Amino acid sequence: MRPVALYWYLLTPESTWGYIWKVTVMTVTVLVISGLIEISFGYNIAGKAAIYGLVGVFLIAPSLALAMRMIQRLHEMQEKLTELAMTDVLTGLGNRRAFMEAATEREVGTVILLDLDHFKRINDTYGHDVGDRVLEAVGEFLRANLRDNDIAARFGGEEFVIYLDGAEPEHTQKIAERLVQGFEFTDGVQSLGVTMSAGIAPFLTPPGLAVSLNQADKVMYEAKAAGRARFRIWNEAGS
Ligand code: GH3
Ligand code: MG
Ligand code: MG
Repeated sequence: MRPVALYWYLLTPESTWGYIWKVTVMTVTVLVISGLIEISFGYNIAGKAAIYGLVGVFLIAPSLALAMRMIQRLHEMQEKLTELAMTDVLTGLGNRRAFMEAATEREVGTVILLDLDHFKRINDTYGHDVGDRVLEAVGEFLRANLRDNDIAARFGGEEFVIYLDGAEPEHTQKIAERLVQGFEFTDGVQSLGVTMSAGIAPFLTPPGLAVSLNQADKVMYEAKAAGRARFRIWNEAGS
């Protein structure tokens, strides 16, 4: 382990016992080094054990524990901020940025762009609040219909994007059929059918995510034009 890595490891305990042993090891190390420096300058440290002990217990150990706690808090805050920057607050799904980062790392899969059908009508008829609840319900609907290795995100507004792990046509077809049929939304007062249109494209690297998204977007508009609540799959022959 490199010295910097060792120092960092000692400054970042994961448990109470971690705090205790790491503070102890570092305090003793500081005291030993101080003693050696004093000796090298010709001072006699015999009889100074009590002073060293007091300095260790009341000065060095608490300062180290405080520094460790502050580092841990900063670390937690950084993780929280990263999570917030990647999460869509309404649906709890990842946002566009999270999707781009996660999907770019994959190798072979399928991209599905989904756009809710006549969503403006839902807002206009039932109000923006109900529209928001519908978007939340879409988040749950997608989570319930995908596998652990798939990625679902809110792409923006009433558009969602999915990365399906793998590219088996039957599986893609089955999922797409289920997704575009949507679900019946109810909040106890209103009940309304929510459908969506989907554009589907293969994801391969190269050419990469941007190309797949472009292709999925093009065929998604074909699905809209063909009557909505349906999907279209990009094919190289010319969609
Ligand atoms: P189409 O079937 O052609 O997609 O019709 P549409 O009405 O879904 O599409 P359009 O682009 O005309 O309208 C999208 C609407 O989505 C307009 C916008 O106000 C609404 N919207 C976008 N984001 C939110 C949101 O966060 N909450 C709510 N309630 N509405 C949103
Ligand atoms: Mg749209
Ligand atoms: Mg729409």
